[in-house]
Amino acid sequence: MAVVQRLVRAKSTTIRRFYSSSSSEIGAVSPSTASSYGRNVQWVFLGCPGVGKGTYASRLSKLLGVPHIATGDLVRDELSTKGPLSSQLSEIVNQGKLVSDHFIFDLLSKRLEAGEAKGELGFILDGFPRTIRQAEILEGVTNIDLVINLKLREEALLAKCLGRRTCRQCGGNYNVACIDIKADNENPAMYMPPLLPPSHCASKLIKRSDDTEEVVKERLRVYNEKSRPVEEFYRKRGKLLEFDLPGGISESWTKLLQLLNLDDHEDKRSAAA
Ligand SMILES: [Zn+2]
Repeated sequence: MAVVQRLVRAKSTTIRRFYSSSSSEIGAVSPSTASSYGRNVQWVFLGCPGVGKGTYASRLSKLLGVPHIATGDLVRDELSTKGPLSSQLSEIVNQGKLVSDHFIFDLLSKRLEAGEAKGELGFILDGFPRTIRQAEILEGVTNIDLVINLKLREEALLAKCLGRRTCRQCGGNYNVACIDIKADNENPAMYMPPLLPPSHCASKLIKRSDDTEEVVKERLRVYNEKSRPVEEFYRKRGKLLEFDLPGGISESWTKLLQLLNLDDHEDKRSAAA
């Protein structure tokens, strides 16, 4: 039960902290709203492509014991399990068309209902909603109580995307970029160490053909146009928690846990006491 207690405490702390900056909306959602539905965490991760949403969402979901739901996985699962929508979906995907909001919401609603039936304590959505329209529909489907907006300076984001490498033999993901930006008047210094491969992968690294400066900048442009307004959507509702990534994964993970008032080592410590 330690996890649940920690969760409830973390949640109320987070929400309290988060609402204190917009007192006019304090009454809109109380910390007990989600738990009155028998759920503890109904969170969304937002952020530019390449910022590392998947990494942090996946770590948090493990820590909190809730599923990490990315819409790409929902589509792949439906296709691989030959679910009721899979024939229509495979037609859309095979024609190279975008999967419509309608489909995504069907899949998401089914996934959330199945999770609730299994007694899941909530979920973390990764990279969804992507548009205001999707955020509006999502409001009708479920109650989101916290939206974590991961942010990284554009120069670091670009370097990180251009540094991505995959091992063509084992599929391992690495990053050869060493980001070392000096402090200036507006920003603190930032250091993100490379994530180097073990020696047996080093000679087998490949770069994705779409990890070029041009493509990455285009993805950012699309994000700014379509998805940036989603941040404002949740900011107005007092649900947006901004998190500027301070550096590499280990430093950022520690700071993110502090911000959420979560402790990755609580069980170990109390066992040792
Ligand atoms: Zn390898």
